[in-house]
Amino acid sequence: MKNYSIALLPGDGIGVDVVREGKKVLDTVSALHGGFTLNYEEYDWSCEYYAKHGKMMPDDGLERLRNFDSIYLGAVGYPGVPDHVSLWGLLLPIRRQFEQYINLRPVKLLKGIQSPLAGKTPEDLDLIVIRENVEGEYSNIGGRMYEGTDMDMAIQNSVFTKKGVERVLRYAFDLSQAKGKKKHVTAATKSNGINHTMPFWDEYVHKINKEYPDVTSSIVHIDALAAFFVSKPETFDVVVASNLFGDILTDLGAAIVGGLGIAPSANINPEKRYPSMFEPVHGSAPDIAGKGIANPIAAIWCTSMMLEQLGEQDSAEAIMTAIEDVLQEKEILTPDLGGKSTTEEVGDYICKKLKNSL
Ligand code: ATP
Ligand code: MG
Repeated sequence: MKNYSIALLPGDGIGVDVVREGKKVLDTVSALHGGFTLNYEEYDWSCEYYAKHGKMMPDDGLERLRNFDSIYLGAVGYPGVPDHVSLWGLLLPIRRQFEQYINLRPVKLLKGIQSPLAGKTPEDLDLIVIRENVEGEYSNIGGRMYEGTDMDMAIQNSVFTKKGVERVLRYAFDLSQAKGKKKHVTAATKSNGINHTMPFWDEYVHKINKEYPDVTSSIVHIDALAAFFVSKPETFDVVVASNLFGDILTDLGAAIVGGLGIAPSANINPEKRYPSMFEPVHGSAPDIAGKGIANPIAAIWCTSMMLEQLGEQDSAEAIMTAIEDVLQEKEILTPDLGGKSTTEEVGDYICKKLKNSL
C-alpha cells in the first residue's frame, strides 16, 4: 500500500479553518479508496509564530519540509505584519528552495456556480493558467537612486533564463499534449513594448513548440489576452505566462469563475525531487477569521490537485464530483456563495457526498 506524507501548514486566520476541512476530506477519501494511506505532520509556522519568534519558521524549517511528498498550506498573513514578511519569510523560500517553478491554477467554472460573465457555461470556462513561479519580473535586482533629488528614480530588473523559460514552456506543452482539449498553448507576451525579455520568451515559445508537433501555439499580448479572458474565454485551453503576467491573469481567472472562496492553486516541482505545495488563492481573510464562515471549497479543491499530482487520479476526481454535487444542490453553502452554512458544515457535507459516491 502506498503511503504519502503531508506537511500541514494551516497558517493564519481562515487558513486554519479551511485546512481542517481539507484534511477531513483527505482522510475520508483515503479511508474509502483503500489504496493509499496518508500521514501528516502539522507545523504552526505563521504570522502568529512570527510574533513570538521574530521569524515565520525555524531556521531548519526548509530542511524539515524537504522529505514530504506534499505541503498543504492554508494562508499566511495578519494585520500589522507586512506582506513582505510572510512572503519572504515563508512562501518564497519554499517555492524557490523546492524548485516549485510551476504555479498551476485551473480557471474552471464548476457546475452550480454562476460566472459573472453573462451566459458563460462550465463548457465555456475551462482552461488552465500556468504561471512561471520563480524568476521573471519578480526579481530582487534593482534599486533606488538619487532619492530626494529631482532625478529620484527606481529600477527593477527582470530575469529570464534559458533554463527557467524552457522548463515552464515544456510543462505547458506537455500538459496540453497530455490533457488539453484543444491541443493549443497560448503564451502571454508583451514583446511590442518590453523589448529584451519578451522577444526572448517568444523565441523560446517557437523553439519548444517544435518539440511538440501535435500541439499548436499562439503568442498573445497580455493586454489583449486579459480582454479575451472576458470576451471569449472559451477559445483558451492551456495558457502560459511569466511571473507577473501570470499573477495578473490568475486573479482575473479566479474572478470569472466565482471568486476567492473557490479558487485553488498548486506550486509544483514537476520532477518530484522536492515536495509540491498546494494552497488556496485566498489569504487569511482577517475580516471573517474566527467566525467559522470561510468557504473551504478552494482548500478542498487543492486536496484534489494534490492527489492528482501524487498519481491518485480516481480519488482526485471523486473529490471534484463531491464538490460539484454540493454546489449544484445549493443547500449547504457558506455566505460568500449565498448560503447560511458554516465552514465545518460544508466540509462535512462534502465528506458525506464522497462516502455516498465511493
Ligand atoms: P491576506 O493579507 O492574508 O492576503 P486579505 O485581507 O488579502 O488577507 P483575502 O483572504 O485575500 O484577504 O480575502 C479578500 C476578501 O475575500 C476578504 O473580504 C475575505 O473575506 C474574502 N474571502 C477570501 N477567502 C474567502 C473564503 N475562503 N471564504 C469566504 N470569503 C473569503
Ligand atoms: Mg491578500
